[in-house]
Amino acid sequence: MSDHARTLPTDTANGLLLIISGPSGVGKTTITRGVERSIAGSVFSVSATTRAKTDADVEGVDYHFVTDAEFDRLVADDELLEWANVFGKRYGTPSGWVGEQLRRGRLVILEIDVEGARQVKAKMPGAFGVFILPPSEEVLLQRLRDRKRESEAAIQKRFAEAKREIATARSGGIYDLFITNDDLHRATAEAVAAVRSRRGA
Ligand code: 5GP
Repeated sequence: MSDHARTLPTDTANGLLLIISGPSGVGKTTITRGVERSIAGSVFSVSATTRAKTDADVEGVDYHFVTDAEFDRLVADDELLEWANVFGKRYGTPSGWVGEQLRRGRLVILEIDVEGARQVKAKMPGAFGVFILPPSEEVLLQRLRDRKRESEAAIQKRFAEAKREIATARSGGIYDLFITNDDLHRATAEAVAAVRSRRGA
């Protein structure tokens, strides 16, 4: 990296890495994007993934869609801050980009799973981990069904995985804050307030 990139005029000590996790169907993407909109200078980290792009995805905005061989290269060249297998596909966070944004004093938002969050916390203990919980298991199951995206068997698989993820998240030192998404607006406001307080703003 050039000296110029290392000493940008916008460099501040205010950079913060924010991890947001939660089971599928819990509303974490909406909360993540809400935090990004509400906090000036925040940036969303676009992960690399080997999963297939859907019509709802925009390349370079939601993900960088890569082949298995490209993902292998990212791992071999140590270009990922963390990576994990989620539902049989690989997802990873670009370390160079994240480091650069942190040096610029940005709030860098990672929307990643529990395994990825564990790896990030081990490398960067100063990262702020937030886990989004459903109001209850019944509500989560209902929300997964309401999305009408999948078969009942696939929904039950996601539901079982969600319960496992919540148990892992609760058991271990990864997350600083648990937010129950009983209402999207309220939950987003709680996340924004917690981040502002953590940054001392
Ligand atoms: P989806 O395929 O539905 O967009 O995402 C599936 C899961 O992958 C979500 O739980 C999301 O948090 C997780 N995920 C997305 N990007 C990353 C990443 O870079 N690293 C890890 N560990 N998980 C990710």
